[in-house]
Amino acid sequence: MTDTPQFHCGFVAIVGRPNVGKSTLMNHLIGQKISITSKKSQTTRHRVTGIHTEDTAQFVFVDTPGFQTYHKGALNEALNKSVKDSLGSVDCVLFLLEAMRFTSADKEVMALLPKKTPVILVVNKLDKAKDRLTLQAFIDEVTAEFEFAGVEVVSAKHGQRLAELLDQVRPHLPESMPLYPEDMVTDKNERFLAAEIVREKLFRYLGEELPYEMNVEVEMFEMDGALRRIHIAVLVDKEHQKPIVIGKAGEKLKKISTEARLDMEKLFDGKVFLQVWVKVKSGWADDVRFLREFGLD
Ligand code: GDP
Ligand code: MG
Repeated sequence: MTDTPQFHCGFVAIVGRPNVGKSTLMNHLIGQKISITSKKSQTTRHRVTGIHTEDTAQFVFVDTPGFQTYHKGALNEALNKSVKDSLGSVDCVLFLLEAMRFTSADKEVMALLPKKTPVILVVNKLDKAKDRLTLQAFIDEVTAEFEFAGVEVVSAKHGQRLAELLDQVRPHLPESMPLYPEDMVTDKNERFLAAEIVREKLFRYLGEELPYEMNVEVEMFEMDGALRRIHIAVLVDKEHQKPIVIGKAGEKLKKISTEARLDMEKLFDGKVFLQVWVKVKSGWADDVRFLREFGLD
Protein backbone atom coordinates (compact mmCIF):
# COMPACT_ATOMS: atom_id res chain seq x y z
CA MET A 1 0.00 0.00 0.00
CA THR A 2 1.14 3.50 -0.73
CA ASP A 3 -0.11 6.71 0.85
CA THR A 4 0.51 8.80 -2.25
CA PRO A 5 -2.72 10.66 -3.00
CA GLN A 6 -4.45 9.60 -6.19
CA PHE A 7 -3.93 11.87 -9.17
CA HIS A 8 -6.68 12.71 -11.66
CA CYS A 9 -6.20 13.97 -15.18
CA GLY A 10 -8.57 14.37 -18.08
CA PHE A 11 -9.72 16.25 -21.15
CA VAL A 12 -12.37 18.93 -20.96
CA ALA A 13 -13.97 20.37 -24.09
CA ILE A 14 -15.33 23.89 -24.04
CA VAL A 15 -18.13 24.30 -26.56
CA GLY A 16 -20.68 26.92 -27.46
CA ARG A 17 -21.63 29.20 -30.31
CA PRO A 18 -19.24 32.03 -31.24
CA ASN A 19 -18.98 34.88 -28.73
CA VAL A 20 -20.30 33.12 -25.64
CA GLY A 21 -16.85 33.51 -24.05
CA LYS A 22 -15.06 30.20 -24.60
CA SER A 23 -11.61 31.70 -25.16
CA THR A 24 -12.02 34.14 -22.28
CA LEU A 25 -13.01 31.29 -19.98
CA MET A 26 -10.06 29.15 -20.96
CA ASN A 27 -7.63 32.03 -20.53
CA HIS A 28 -8.86 32.64 -17.02
CA LEU A 29 -8.94 28.98 -16.10
CA ILE A 30 -5.30 28.56 -16.96
CA GLY A 31 -4.35 32.02 -15.75
CA GLN A 32 -2.67 33.16 -18.93
CA LYS A 33 -3.62 34.61 -22.26
CA ILE A 34 -3.13 31.85 -24.79
CA SER A 35 -6.31 31.34 -26.70
CA ILE A 36 -7.04 34.51 -28.55
CA THR A 37 -10.22 36.40 -27.73
CA SER A 38 -11.95 38.94 -29.85
CA LYS A 39 -15.25 40.74 -30.16
CA LYS A 40 -15.45 39.17 -33.59
CA SER A 41 -15.93 35.45 -33.80
CA GLN A 42 -13.85 32.86 -35.62
CA THR A 43 -10.43 34.04 -34.55
CA THR A 44 -9.49 30.68 -33.09
CA ARG A 45 -8.52 28.85 -36.25
CA HIS A 46 -6.62 26.12 -34.51
CA ARG A 47 -7.48 23.71 -31.80
CA VAL A 48 -5.92 25.29 -28.72
CA THR A 49 -5.13 23.28 -25.66
CA GLY A 50 -4.89 24.90 -22.26
CA ILE A 51 -3.66 23.10 -19.16
CA HIS A 52 -4.41 23.75 -15.51
CA THR A 53 -2.51 21.70 -12.96
CA GLU A 54 -3.24 21.43 -9.23
CA ASP A 55 -1.70 19.29 -6.50
CA THR A 56 -3.77 16.23 -7.33
CA ALA A 57 -5.43 17.00 -10.65
CA GLN A 58 -4.67 18.18 -14.14
CA PHE A 59 -7.34 19.68 -16.44
CA VAL A 60 -6.56 19.67 -20.16
CA PHE A 61 -8.91 22.04 -21.98
CA VAL A 62 -9.61 21.71 -25.67
CA ASP A 63 -11.40 23.95 -28.12
CA THR A 64 -13.43 21.71 -30.38
CA PRO A 65 -12.55 22.15 -34.03
CA GLY A 66 -15.67 22.64 -36.07
CA PHE A 67 -17.61 24.99 -33.85
CA GLN A 68 -15.44 27.90 -34.96
CA THR A 69 -15.83 27.24 -38.62
CA TYR A 70 -19.50 26.75 -39.12
CA HIS A 71 -21.37 29.37 -41.02
CA LYS A 72 -24.89 30.62 -40.51
CA GLY A 73 -27.35 27.92 -41.43
CA ALA A 74 -27.07 24.28 -40.63
CA LEU A 75 -23.94 22.43 -39.73
CA ASN A 76 -23.03 19.99 -42.44
CA GLU A 77 -22.75 16.26 -41.90
CA ALA A 78 -18.97 16.03 -41.94
CA LEU A 79 -18.66 18.85 -39.46
CA ASN A 80 -21.30 17.28 -37.24
CA LYS A 81 -19.33 14.10 -37.23
CA SER A 82 -16.03 15.76 -36.41
CA VAL A 83 -17.60 17.68 -33.56
CA LYS A 84 -19.31 14.58 -32.19
CA ASP A 85 -16.11 12.56 -32.47
CA SER A 86 -14.08 15.09 -30.57
CA LEU A 87 -16.75 15.47 -27.90
CA GLY A 88 -17.00 11.72 -27.51
CA SER A 89 -13.30 11.44 -26.72
CA VAL A 90 -13.19 13.84 -23.76
CA ASP A 91 -13.99 13.22 -20.10
CA CYS A 92 -16.23 16.21 -19.58
CA VAL A 93 -17.85 18.88 -21.74
CA LEU A 94 -18.53 22.46 -20.74
CA PHE A 95 -21.47 23.84 -22.70
CA LEU A 96 -21.31 27.62 -22.57
CA LEU A 97 -24.21 29.99 -22.89
CA GLU A 98 -24.50 33.71 -22.37
CA ALA A 99 -26.79 34.54 -19.48
CA MET A 100 -30.28 35.40 -20.70
CA ARG A 101 -29.58 34.41 -24.30
CA PHE A 102 -30.58 31.04 -25.70
CA THR A 103 -30.52 31.41 -29.46
CA SER A 104 -31.07 29.05 -32.36
CA ALA A 105 -27.27 28.90 -32.78
CA ASP A 106 -27.00 27.73 -29.15
CA LYS A 107 -29.59 25.06 -29.88
CA GLU A 108 -27.63 23.87 -32.91
CA VAL A 109 -24.60 23.34 -30.72
CA MET A 110 -26.72 21.74 -28.02
CA ALA A 111 -27.98 19.19 -30.54
CA LEU A 112 -24.41 17.90 -30.83
CA LEU A 113 -23.81 17.38 -27.12
CA PRO A 114 -22.87 13.80 -26.28
CA LYS A 115 -25.21 11.62 -24.25
CA LYS A 116 -22.57 9.41 -22.63
CA THR A 117 -20.10 12.09 -21.57
CA PRO A 118 -20.98 14.37 -18.64
CA VAL A 119 -21.92 17.86 -19.83
CA ILE A 120 -21.89 20.81 -17.47
CA LEU A 121 -24.02 23.80 -18.36
CA VAL A 122 -21.95 26.94 -17.86
CA VAL A 123 -23.96 30.14 -17.88
CA ASN A 124 -21.38 32.83 -18.60
CA LYS A 125 -21.64 36.63 -18.44
CA LEU A 126 -23.23 36.50 -15.02
CA ASP A 127 -22.86 40.29 -14.98
CA LYS A 128 -25.50 40.48 -17.71
CA ALA A 129 -28.21 38.85 -15.64
CA LYS A 130 -30.65 41.26 -14.00
CA ASP A 131 -31.51 39.31 -10.87
CA ARG A 132 -31.59 35.83 -9.35
CA LEU A 133 -35.15 35.03 -10.31
CA THR A 134 -34.82 35.76 -14.01
CA LEU A 135 -31.51 33.93 -14.03
CA GLN A 136 -33.11 30.89 -12.38
CA ALA A 137 -35.97 30.98 -14.91
CA PHE A 138 -33.39 31.08 -17.69
CA ILE A 139 -31.53 28.08 -16.25
CA ASP A 140 -34.81 26.17 -15.88
CA GLU A 141 -35.64 26.81 -19.52
CA VAL A 142 -32.29 25.45 -20.70
CA THR A 143 -32.05 22.47 -18.33
CA ALA A 144 -35.50 21.33 -19.44
CA GLU A 145 -33.94 20.51 -22.83
CA PHE A 146 -30.93 18.44 -21.86
CA GLU A 147 -29.78 16.27 -18.99
CA PHE A 148 -26.77 18.16 -17.65
CA ALA A 149 -24.38 16.68 -15.11
CA GLY A 150 -24.21 20.06 -13.39
CA VAL A 151 -24.90 23.77 -13.76
CA GLU A 152 -22.60 26.67 -12.93
CA VAL A 153 -23.01 30.40 -13.37
CA VAL A 154 -19.76 32.29 -13.98
CA SER A 155 -18.26 35.43 -15.37
CA ALA A 156 -15.26 34.45 -17.45
CA LYS A 157 -14.27 38.04 -18.07
CA HIS A 158 -14.35 39.01 -14.41
CA GLY A 159 -12.96 35.68 -13.20
CA GLN A 160 -16.01 35.02 -11.03
CA ARG A 161 -17.01 31.56 -9.73
CA LEU A 162 -14.31 29.76 -11.71
CA ALA A 163 -13.15 27.82 -8.64
CA GLU A 164 -16.72 26.54 -8.24
CA LEU A 165 -16.72 25.51 -11.88
CA LEU A 166 -13.48 23.55 -11.44
CA ASP A 167 -15.04 21.88 -8.37
CA GLN A 168 -17.81 20.57 -10.60
CA VAL A 169 -15.43 19.30 -13.27
CA ARG A 170 -12.88 17.63 -10.98
CA PRO A 171 -14.98 14.56 -10.08
CA HIS A 172 -15.24 13.71 -13.79
CA LEU A 173 -11.49 13.49 -14.36
CA PRO A 174 -10.36 9.87 -14.42
CA GLU A 175 -7.60 8.59 -12.20
CA SER A 176 -4.42 9.06 -14.21
CA MET A 177 -0.93 10.41 -13.96
CA PRO A 178 -0.52 13.97 -15.32
CA LEU A 179 -0.15 13.96 -19.10
CA TYR A 180 1.79 17.22 -19.23
CA PRO A 181 4.52 18.85 -17.11
CA GLU A 182 2.91 20.85 -14.31
CA ASP A 183 4.27 24.21 -15.47
CA MET A 184 3.04 23.78 -19.02
CA VAL A 185 -0.03 25.81 -19.96
CA THR A 186 -0.25 25.17 -23.68
CA ASP A 187 1.13 22.87 -26.34
CA LYS A 188 1.41 25.73 -28.80
CA ASN A 189 4.83 27.24 -29.40
CA GLU A 190 5.71 30.90 -29.12
CA ARG A 191 5.98 31.30 -32.87
CA PHE A 192 2.40 30.17 -33.32
CA LEU A 193 1.19 32.36 -30.46
CA ALA A 194 2.95 35.42 -31.89
CA ALA A 195 1.07 34.98 -35.17
CA GLU A 196 -2.21 34.45 -33.32
CA ILE A 197 -1.76 37.68 -31.38
CA VAL A 198 -1.17 39.70 -34.56
CA ARG A 199 -4.16 37.99 -36.15
CA GLU A 200 -6.31 38.98 -33.19
CA LYS A 201 -5.24 42.63 -33.44
CA LEU A 202 -6.03 42.68 -37.14
CA PHE A 203 -9.52 41.39 -36.41
CA ARG A 204 -9.97 43.89 -33.65
CA TYR A 205 -8.78 47.00 -35.48
CA LEU A 206 -9.82 46.35 -39.05
CA GLY A 207 -13.33 45.23 -38.26
CA GLU A 208 -15.50 45.18 -41.33
CA GLU A 209 -12.62 46.38 -43.48
CA LEU A 210 -10.68 43.19 -42.87
CA PRO A 211 -9.61 41.82 -46.24
CA TYR A 212 -11.16 38.40 -46.72
CA GLU A 213 -8.01 36.83 -48.06
CA MET A 214 -5.40 37.73 -45.53
CA ASN A 215 -2.79 35.72 -43.73
CA VAL A 216 -0.13 36.25 -41.13
CA GLU A 217 3.30 34.71 -41.46
CA VAL A 218 6.16 34.69 -38.98
CA GLU A 219 9.23 35.42 -41.09
CA MET A 220 11.69 35.50 -38.23
CA PHE A 221 11.60 34.52 -34.57
CA GLU A 222 14.99 34.78 -32.87
CA MET A 223 16.29 34.99 -29.34
CA ASP A 224 18.88 37.73 -28.87
CA GLY A 225 19.89 37.17 -25.26
CA ALA A 226 16.62 37.62 -23.39
CA LEU A 227 15.13 39.69 -26.23
CA ARG A 228 12.83 38.12 -28.79
CA ARG A 229 13.20 39.52 -32.30
CA ILE A 230 10.06 38.82 -34.27
CA HIS A 231 9.26 39.74 -37.86
CA ILE A 232 5.73 39.20 -39.01
CA ALA A 233 4.32 39.71 -42.49
CA VAL A 234 0.65 40.41 -43.06
CA LEU A 235 -0.11 38.98 -46.47
CA VAL A 236 -2.94 40.44 -48.48
CA ASP A 237 -4.18 39.36 -51.87
CA LYS A 238 -4.29 42.68 -53.71
CA GLU A 239 -2.21 45.82 -53.76
CA HIS A 240 -5.23 48.02 -52.95
CA GLN A 241 -5.74 46.13 -49.68
CA LYS A 242 -2.40 47.26 -48.30
CA PRO A 243 -3.52 50.77 -47.28
CA ILE A 244 -6.51 49.27 -45.44
CA VAL A 245 -4.16 47.46 -43.08
CA ILE A 246 -1.58 50.24 -42.91
CA GLY A 247 -4.00 53.13 -42.30
CA LYS A 248 -3.51 56.85 -42.70
CA ALA A 249 0.16 57.71 -42.17
CA GLY A 250 0.65 54.16 -40.94
CA GLU A 251 -1.37 54.69 -37.74
CA LYS A 252 -3.38 51.45 -37.99
CA LEU A 253 -0.42 49.19 -38.47
CA LYS A 254 1.44 51.04 -35.73
CA LYS A 255 -1.40 50.51 -33.28
CA ILE A 256 -1.70 46.85 -34.23
CA SER A 257 2.00 46.19 -33.80
CA THR A 258 2.31 48.14 -30.55
CA GLU A 259 -0.59 46.29 -28.96
CA ALA A 260 0.63 42.96 -30.29
CA ARG A 261 4.08 43.61 -28.85
CA LEU A 262 2.66 44.45 -25.41
CA ASP A 263 0.60 41.24 -25.40
CA MET A 264 3.62 39.21 -26.45
CA GLU A 265 5.80 40.72 -23.72
CA LYS A 266 3.17 39.81 -21.14
CA LEU A 267 2.72 36.32 -22.51
CA PHE A 268 6.41 35.50 -23.04
CA ASP A 269 7.45 37.39 -19.93
CA GLY A 270 10.30 39.21 -21.68
CA LYS A 271 11.15 42.05 -24.02
CA VAL A 272 10.04 41.78 -27.62
CA PHE A 273 11.27 43.65 -30.67
CA LEU A 274 8.47 43.30 -33.18
CA GLN A 275 8.27 44.35 -36.80
CA VAL A 276 5.04 43.94 -38.69
CA TRP A 277 4.66 44.77 -42.37
CA VAL A 278 2.18 44.23 -45.12
CA LYS A 279 2.95 42.36 -48.30
CA VAL A 280 1.00 41.44 -51.37
CA LYS A 281 1.01 37.74 -51.98
CA SER A 282 -0.55 37.12 -55.34
CA GLY A 283 -2.38 33.87 -55.65
CA TRP A 284 -1.68 32.85 -52.07
CA ALA A 285 -4.97 31.01 -51.91
CA ASP A 286 -3.46 28.38 -54.18
CA ASP A 287 -0.39 28.02 -52.05
CA VAL A 288 -0.57 24.70 -50.23
CA ARG A 289 1.81 25.94 -47.58
CA PHE A 290 -0.87 28.29 -46.28
CA LEU A 291 -3.54 25.67 -46.42
CA ARG A 292 -1.33 23.37 -44.44
CA GLU A 293 -0.63 26.08 -41.91
CA PHE A 294 -4.36 26.50 -41.43
CA GLY A 295 -4.81 22.76 -41.13
CA LEU A 296 -7.03 22.75 -44.20
CA ASP A 297 -5.24 20.40 -46.52
P1 GDP B 1 -15.69 32.85 -27.96
O1 GDP B 1 -16.02 33.23 -29.37
O2 GDP B 1 -16.74 31.94 -27.40
O3 GDP B 1 -14.31 32.29 -27.78
O4 GDP B 1 -15.81 34.19 -27.10
P2 GDP B 1 -14.66 35.16 -26.55
O5 GDP B 1 -13.96 34.54 -25.39
O6 GDP B 1 -13.82 35.64 -27.68
O7 GDP B 1 -15.57 36.34 -25.94
C1 GDP B 1 -16.47 37.07 -26.74
C2 GDP B 1 -16.78 38.39 -26.08
O8 GDP B 1 -17.48 38.21 -24.84
C3 GDP B 1 -15.50 39.18 -25.72
O9 GDP B 1 -15.73 40.54 -26.02
C4 GDP B 1 -15.39 38.95 -24.22
O10 GDP B 1 -14.72 40.02 -23.55
C5 GDP B 1 -16.84 38.90 -23.78
N1 GDP B 1 -17.02 38.19 -22.49
C6 GDP B 1 -16.50 37.01 -22.10
N2 GDP B 1 -16.86 36.70 -20.83
C7 GDP B 1 -17.65 37.71 -20.40
C8 GDP B 1 -18.34 37.98 -19.15
O11 GDP B 1 -18.28 37.24 -18.17
N3 GDP B 1 -19.08 39.12 -19.11
C9 GDP B 1 -19.17 39.98 -20.18
N4 GDP B 1 -19.92 41.07 -20.03
N5 GDP B 1 -18.52 39.77 -21.33
C10 GDP B 1 -17.77 38.65 -21.45
MG1 MG C 1 -12.83 31.93 -29.21
